[in-house]
Amino acid sequence: NKKLKHILVTGGAGFIGSNFVPYFLEKYTDYTIVNLDKMTYAGDLDNLSEVMDNPRHIFVEGDICNRELVAHLFKTYDIRGVIHFAAESHVDNSITGPEAFIQTNVNGTFTLVDVARNYWMEAPFKFKEGYEDCRFHHISTDEVYGTLGEAGLFTEETPYAPNSPYSSSKASSDLIVRSYFHTYGMNVITTNCSNNYGPKQHKEKLIPTIIRKALAEELIPIYGDGKNIRDWLYVLDHCKGIDLVYHTGKLGETYNIGGRNERDNLYIVDKICSILDEKQPRANGASYKDLISFVKDRPGHDRRYAIDATKLEKDLGWKADENFESGILKTVEWYV
Ligand code: NAD
Repeated sequence: NKKLKHILVTGGAGFIGSNFVPYFLEKYTDYTIVNLDKMTYAGDLDNLSEVMDNPRHIFVEGDICNRELVAHLFKTYDIRGVIHFAAESHVDNSITGPEAFIQTNVNGTFTLVDVARNYWMEAPFKFKEGYEDCRFHHISTDEVYGTLGEAGLFTEETPYAPNSPYSSSKASSDLIVRSYFHTYGMNVITTNCSNNYGPKQHKEKLIPTIIRKALAEELIPIYGDGKNIRDWLYVLDHCKGIDLVYHTGKLGETYNIGGRNERDNLYIVDKICSILDEKQPRANGASYKDLISFVKDRPGHDRRYAIDATKLEKDLGWKADENFESGILKTVEWYV
């Protein structure tokens, strides 16, 4: 159907992408999504079960680093927009094996943005006729800003100071995308989001780990003293922020997305244990909190992240729909 606009979504079988794809397909009936995912350990097609039969969802298993494949997809589907989630995303894995992070996050992002430029633009710096409104939206993290002390918030002006191979690879990809705006005048936009939580997250991440270990009656590992602070955002609120920025954000700019929801890890584990105590009481009658066990801290562990989302709120009118209490309850119910 020629009237349908084809958008390339990468990494759509992962946590955030698989929450985004069904949301986007339902909201915009004139879009078809071409979903390119390599299906690493982090991708799961079960996450996409509600859209696998949707004719406006085309799933392609493949690597964003494969230039031929990516160029083929642009041409075959006449891709008019990119929303780029695909990444190696787990900090701990980046410490034990950084290479895949550089390959996918840096080289893969370069390949995508460069293929998009070649397809949408004609030499030297001009969009092809009819392609002027094509957009490349890069999804990134607040971890590029490094760590905060007790006070202060990350804004879009905070200097980049990434501390892990993961965050440094994401910072590199942000800068590559940025350069395509300043050098070629390409329509790019980047969002940097805080920690997401919600359904479909891989079991290796903090919140699913807490729930899984608790229900299995195993020790719940918490790094260091449990006082590391993250700013938590419900995944669908992130998806809604991306939607807003993709459609109304100012080209060449970056937007921070965060829920003003700072919690330390101990608060999170306590909260989840209390919900589980109520929903799924232990056979021995004790609290799941008894299973909490402190383990050696992660090397280079950032102490505190917190996002100032004023720009997104003021300029584009974004606001999170979930507060932490409602979001975490939905999340625990989903995993249980
Ligand atoms: P995830 O690890 O759950 O999913 C990543 C997906 O990308 C997987 O389906 C995987 O198979 C796919 N992928 C990996 N390498 C690929 C490659 N070379 N080619 C094609 N597909 C590939 O990650 P997530 O948590 O959903 O994060 C998505 C994006 O959002 C990432 O760019 C991440 O940096 C960013 N982000 C995540 C969070 C968070 O809290 N999870 C916060 C801010 C930003």
